[in-house]
Amino acid sequence: MKDHLSPIAPGRSYYQDTVERPCFPRLDGGLKVDVLIVGGGFTGLSAAIHLARSGVDVAVVEAHRFGDGASGRNGGQMGTGQRIWPGEVEALYGFERSKALFDLAEEAKTHLFEFIEANGIDADLRMGQLSLAHKRSYLPEYRGQVESLTSRYGYHGVSYMDREETAERIGSNRFFGGIRDTGTGHVNPLKLVVGLAKVAATSGAKLFEETKVLAARRTDGRIVAVTETGEITAERLLYAVNAYGPGLSAAIDARVMPINSFIGATEPLPESAGVLPGGEACDDSRFVVRYFRKSVDNRLLFGGREAYTSAAGDITRHIRKQIAEVYPQLKGVGMTHAWGGSVGITMQRLPFVRTLEPGITTIGGFSGHGVMLANFAGRLYAERVAGNRDRLAEFEALQIPNFPGGSRMRAPLLFLAMTWFSLRDRF
Ligand SMILES: Cc1cc2nc3c(=O)[nH]c(=O)nc-3n(C[C@H](O)[C@H](O)[C@H](O)COP(=O)(O)OP(=O)(O)OC[C@H]3O[C@@H](n4cnc5c(N)ncnc54)[C@H](O)[C@@H]3O)c2cc1C
Repeated sequence: MKDHLSPIAPGRSYYQDTVERPCFPRLDGGLKVDVLIVGGGFTGLSAAIHLARSGVDVAVVEAHRFGDGASGRNGGQMGTGQRIWPGEVEALYGFERSKALFDLAEEAKTHLFEFIEANGIDADLRMGQLSLAHKRSYLPEYRGQVESLTSRYGYHGVSYMDREETAERIGSNRFFGGIRDTGTGHVNPLKLVVGLAKVAATSGAKLFEETKVLAARRTDGRIVAVTETGEITAERLLYAVNAYGPGLSAAIDARVMPINSFIGATEPLPESAGVLPGGEACDDSRFVVRYFRKSVDNRLLFGGREAYTSAAGDITRHIRKQIAEVYPQLKGVGMTHAWGGSVGITMQRLPFVRTLEPGITTIGGFSGHGVMLANFAGRLYAERVAGNRDRLAEFEALQIPNFPGGSRMRAPLLFLAMTWFSLRDRF
């Protein structure tokens, strides 16, 4: 069966050909629940599972289909720590908080591994991540990161790779060295979304697709969310809309900015192509990061993030060029899929978690690092609601600033900044 095209992102993804998405009903009319979750990606579905399992009456409403946002279309790389290096977190918040955030991210990783295993989700999980330096001058910093992760953060999954080892592991001599991380991995994200939705449904969460929340407000001590067909009342509301919910909250719009990222899939490659023989996922040191990995059927999934148009043919042309820069042997390779999505980024590249009004929380802005963090943040939200523990407070305490430029100039200023950084990456 052909899966539908996402109305909010360009192109048909490779992932859509690997799994059948179950359909969930539209919500017609009103509803009353304890907790309403707006947005059916990793954050929303994970929160729903853990809330439902602790006996909370919870509903998820998704404007399109589950996984149509970033969660079903991303690079699938889990990573380690936060989106920025621990040293950068330290510069902003000091060692103690940086370590606490690192430890939470380690728990996020364990949580995802265990969740996949415990629920029998076939998410094509594979281990191994390589972070690659595209400039020789970055090598001392990479060495320093390995040293710091090992000695100060107690993380022993990483080792420094010289140029020779890097070339062997990726099958290309384009990079100068890097970091090998054996403690993390990569997944097929849409298979994970489908697994989450099925577990949420069997846990008792009420799930609705093609149900858009137009606005929500607090009135008479309760929260009322308006959809096209009725009103949903709830004690609490979670906005899990990431970069896909403009207009719902001025605070989210000011702090979580959508930027486009595009991925292309090649046809299955023969082993003789020599690409990533160990099956690791890679990201590089560009500000406008390039990321790639092989699928379980041996395609190269290659992502880049530049401001070209979102027509599938155009994405294919650009991605093919970037692939040939790394793998000249793949020049002119057949491409079967090209797609894009919006990454929700924040100024600090750390998540934006905030209580917007009593009972109304937002979680998002994982800045290209949500595969493990968004799933875990959903669980932390459920812990907070159940009154067990409040580890979400560690994220909520981050002082994520507004993007400069106000509502009119934010996007053009970000575009200029991205263009500047992508030029710097090149020269
Ligand atoms: C191309 C791409 C590559 C990426 N690569 C990686 C990677 O390799 N590793 C990594 O860790 N992260 C990566 N990311 C980021 C990662 O995908 C996100 O951080 C994560 O999926 C965020 O999940 P979420 O549930 O918060 O948001 P989303 O998955 O974006 O879900 C938000 C949902 O809210 C819904 N919604 C919005 N408004 C409304 C409304 N009014 N009513 C109802 N529903 C609404 C949307 O339709 C959407 O489905 C990538 C992202 C993209 C786009």
